[in-house]
Amino acid sequence: MKALHLLPIGNVDPGLLEWLRRELIEGFRIPCEILHPELDPAFAYHPEREQFHSSEMLARMQEYVQPKTWRLLGITPVDLYIPILTFVFGEAQMGGQCSVVSYHRLRQEFYGLPTDIPLLGRRILTECVHELGHTLDLTHCQDYRCVMASSHAVEWIDLKEWTFCSSCAMKAEAQAQF
Ligand SMILES: [Zn+2]
Ligand SMILES: [Zn+2]
Repeated sequence: MKALHLLPIGNVDPGLLEWLRRELIEGFRIPCEILHPELDPAFAYHPEREQFHSSEMLARMQEYVQPKTWRLLGITPVDLYIPILTFVFGEAQMGGQCSVVSYHRLRQEFYGLPTDIPLLGRRILTECVHELGHTLDLTHCQDYRCVMASSHAVEWIDLKEWTFCSSCAMKAEAQAQF
């Protein structure tokens, strides 16, 4: 059986990663393993933006795909962007194997609010399932509660469940050959 591989990109909290690993096993019913050592994100840094280019990360992540990799999901604390947007929470290869999620802007501290670890966990999980959904060829969903709804602000993420609506779940099942 293939496994979902989690790749820390930069200095990711080990407790957070382990929590996420267990939640994703529950959610996708598939083995989930954390890859070591972590990938240094410095290669994707652009000083003119003071951010990291997510598409360059996805390209580099290709080297970490193994024959037993079902999907490769990068988790990073650094701020991601693509040139046409001020930032992205994550990016995925549509129908491909790699996706990446940043929790930089999922932390309450980013908005000047007190730390909220349970909320952070919920947001990260939601975004991980969302990006994995894109690798299963799912596009954005009109149902604002569905994990595949698009979100450009954390308030929108907080409106979503971390699960697929029934229509997206059917499409995901059809694609998800382990
Ligand atoms: Zn999306
Ligand atoms: Zn949906």
